[in-house]
Amino acid sequence: MNDMHPLEVLQEYNVLNPEATSAPKDAAVRCNGITKSYGTGETTVQALRGVDLEVHPGELLMLVGPSGCGKTTLISVIAGILDQDDGECLLFGQNLSQLPKHERVQYRGKHIGFVFQTFNLIPSLTAAENAAIPLLINGMSMERAVEQSAKLLTSVGLEGREQALPSQLSGGQQQRVAVARALVHSPKLVVCDEPTSALDHATGRRVMEELKKLAINKDRALVIVTHDARIFEFADRIAHMNDGRIEQIGHNN
Ligand code: ADP
Ligand code: MG
Repeated sequence: MNDMHPLEVLQEYNVLNPEATSAPKDAAVRCNGITKSYGTGETTVQALRGVDLEVHPGELLMLVGPSGCGKTTLISVIAGILDQDDGECLLFGQNLSQLPKHERVQYRGKHIGFVFQTFNLIPSLTAAENAAIPLLINGMSMERAVEQSAKLLTSVGLEGREQALPSQLSGGQQQRVAVARALVHSPKLVVCDEPTSALDHATGRRVMEELKKLAINKDRALVIVTHDARIFEFADRIAHMNDGRIEQIGHNN
């Protein structure tokens, strides 16, 4: 017979420590052995040669490396825009490639925000309409969606430009519309390809501050591909890629 006091027993089993008893949190992103090649035969390019990567909830991970090393390919696989050849990628514990196509599209539309290197705005839609697209996809009315996207445009310094078409905006302004679009639906994972490449120093910092504020909390994560050394200080960790692999990951403090 155990003569421990019941409280001691509870302590022994960590019942009084919710941290210890709750299940371990899923990684925001977990990639295991991701490979991807383009083309066939002699022209095959092996873009990813076995990538293992974990991004934690609450984290801003930056991905750096020389041109052509596979950064865009990797984040496209992570965001479910591109299928890997081999290996698996889990987002918050979910393996998207195991979901039926429509559920996968639905998951992406709801939980992922993506800033493309080339912005990919729709030429015939205004800035506010472009930034509202994820909300429209998720079934919100145009009126409400545009109202909400206008707020985000303001937060990235585009107040007054809501009605402009992409062709009437500078490259830097288009890039900020793309950032607003990636954030507007409060996704769990935001993935950005060179999000400050067209921005001056002050605007780049402002956009990074908004990204950090809106894309990260304890259940969300942000992955940014960048060459821009001026924004490295915003990262929690920096992963260095080379020739289709992650060679090193370092904490940034
Ligand atoms: P990064 O973003 O680091 O510059 P990418 O992921 O764009 O690198 O490209 C990795 C490699 O794959 C490069 O050699 C590139 O030329 C090649 N690549 C990328 N996209 C394609 C494609 N659609 N078709 C053929 N090759 C591609
Ligand atoms: Mg790229």
